[in-house]
Amino acid sequence: MAQQFLEMPDSQGYFGEYGGQILPPELKAVMDGINVAYEEVRKTAAFQDELTDLYAHYVGRPSPIFYARRLSDRQGGAHIHLKREDLNHTGAHKINHCLGEALLAKYMGKTKVLAETGAGQHGVALASACALVGIDCEIHMGAIDIAKEHPNVTKMKILGAKLVPVTRGTRTLKDAVDSAFEEYMLDPVHFFYAIGSVVGPHPFPKMVRDFQSIVGREARAQFLAEHQRLPDVVTACVGGGSNAMGIFTEFLPDADVQLVGVEPAGRGLDTPDHAATMTLGTKGAIHGFICYNLQDERGEPLPVYSIASGLDYPGVGPQHCYLKDVGRVQYEAVTDDECLDAFMALSRTEGIIPALESAHALAYAMKLAKTLSPEQNILVNLSGRGDKDADFVAQHLGL
Ligand SMILES: *Cc1c(COP(=O)(O)O)cnc(C)c1O
Repeated sequence: MAQQFLEMPDSQGYFGEYGGQILPPELKAVMDGINVAYEEVRKTAAFQDELTDLYAHYVGRPSPIFYARRLSDRQGGAHIHLKREDLNHTGAHKINHCLGEALLAKYMGKTKVLAETGAGQHGVALASACALVGIDCEIHMGAIDIAKEHPNVTKMKILGAKLVPVTRGTRTLKDAVDSAFEEYMLDPVHFFYAIGSVVGPHPFPKMVRDFQSIVGREARAQFLAEHQRLPDVVTACVGGGSNAMGIFTEFLPDADVQLVGVEPAGRGLDTPDHAATMTLGTKGAIHGFICYNLQDERGEPLPVYSIASGLDYPGVGPQHCYLKDVGRVQYEAVTDDECLDAFMALSRTEGIIPALESAHALAYAMKLAKTLSPEQNILVNLSGRGDKDADFVAQHLGL
């Protein structure tokens, strides 16, 4: 079984019945071209050495694992440890795959990297990577999001990205995707569309997973060296699922390590205001691939909601869908209120302000810890820092 996980996806980009390339033939040909180039480039020492060097000297890898002693004592039960992706340059795990994508675009001789962004986190990480690698970057963003996310908009401009405001339709992420995609289709041979998670058509779920898997490779070795054993549980939040695949991949063959992905239950699973794709979704196609989806009877994506804007996506990475079906990874959902409690608890017991996305995984770990013994260990992927969320939380809680 372990080997089977590591060899995924198959040559058509399927993880079991999920993934693939649900695309018109012209676009499938472009994606196949990216796959061939990626498989070639990844085997070269030049590419791997450059990426390894940037992880070390630009991102600041390896990120440490921190034992959250006061938080664990407060909860009682298992020890909670944090893989500190929040300490990366630009403040989250996203830089790991943005660097990989920007470098690949450069090696392929592309002239421009394109993407959409919702809250601006993907846009800032990609703009940083493109500035570093020396390639043009164009970010499409809904006009409503531009008004809401001022600090990230400013950062993208400072970093030299071309920001394209999207004023059609809902003027949010959904239309930004369409807008960026239309621009991409003008010249897919010279442009590179950088997808921001383990989603989209093959080869993106594979490539983004590969770039993020550094997180789990480090974490497994670090934990073993420190504790002479593996953690009992590894947990991560799931939006599209890149930080979770990043930390899970290296642990997949370790049958004794329980893996848990945590989704946003928002205002409750019995309300329309959530983004619990794995828990409540059904199989269908979205954005060029097959996965669990929150969709209406006509197969149109439903509006989704989470207090953490990085988690509100109506689809999810195809490998997660497969891992759920075969029972290797368990998926749980955590509400906005539980997320806020965890956000404040970590801030006040450890002096670490987590991203609201990461606080979902932490909230689950805090609940689970109480049910386990002090000899057991939970490793949480702390995917990002909460600077971006501080004002919102303070206002929301009336601090
Ligand atoms: C974007 C983001 C996420 C969600 O993306 P995944 O692909 O599910 O990892 C999680 N945490 C942080 C800090 C983010 O910025």
